[in-house]
Amino acid sequence: MKIKLWGTRGSIPVPGPDTFRYGGNTTCVEVRLDDGTIVIFDAGTGIRPLGLALMAERQPLDLKLIFTHTHWDHLQGFPFFEPINHASTRITILSAPNTSADLKQTLISQMDFKYFPINFKSLKSQIIFEEVVQPEHLIGNARLFSIPTNHPGSTFGYKLVAGNRSFVFLTDNELRPHIPAKSTWQDFVEFCQGSDLMLHDAMWMDDELTDKRGWGHSSMEQVIELAAQAHPKTVILSHHLPRRSDQELEERFNETLKRKAADAANTIFVLAKEGDSFNI
Ligand SMILES: [Zn+2]
Ligand SMILES: [Zn+2]
Repeated sequence: MKIKLWGTRGSIPVPGPDTFRYGGNTTCVEVRLDDGTIVIFDAGTGIRPLGLALMAERQPLDLKLIFTHTHWDHLQGFPFFEPINHASTRITILSAPNTSADLKQTLISQMDFKYFPINFKSLKSQIIFEEVVQPEHLIGNARLFSIPTNHPGSTFGYKLVAGNRSFVFLTDNELRPHIPAKSTWQDFVEFCQGSDLMLHDAMWMDDELTDKRGWGHSSMEQVIELAAQAHPKTVILSHHLPRRSDQELEERFNETLKRKAADAANTIFVLAKEGDSFNI
């Protein structure tokens, strides 16, 4: 499968010269399965350029859109996703068990006339809501697994497995929460075990976490510690802090790798960069 990053920033879009290289758009990841199925994780502002690229590439479009949760930075790009305006588009919106009614209402509310000029119910595309079947949900030639993440609200992470290849998508997740965990450290070790590619929230550094407990995010160091036990081949550190400039991001990343990467010597670590692709 091929994975492309369209949005790598956490919390709020931050376009500008300081974020030009790693990107200012919020979370959105495209996955192309080998059978041609197009899967999209989250609808942060990165889904807007993805929509334009898809429209230029082919029609009709049959898309699977999977939501981790409905915080702004994972939802806000949806009204600007061009394929929703076309009758030739079919979108299956997938979310975790017992969340689809709430997700639908949230998407409708987001496009209420108070906030947006076009009403959700007037969209021309065919939009279907489904909940992922557990323990595994079939999408094209792949199997989708879900895990609750440690983040405020109803929030989930996912793993797509096609043949012997796997991609783990864990954004907005506090690996070491100081509140009762929805999933434990060991749960995540098992969920990520041996994956080919793993994307994880690494918004903070350890030295910044003291007063950020309960906010639902992890540090770069914690993600490396997880990799040391779960042995993914490649780890993408994502959901960058909005105020972190490209330069600071690289400095913090390089310094952390020097200190910690030997703990996970068989894993390659990269910073999520808008536009980057990975073939697994
Ligand atoms: Zn987020
Ligand atoms: Zn969130």
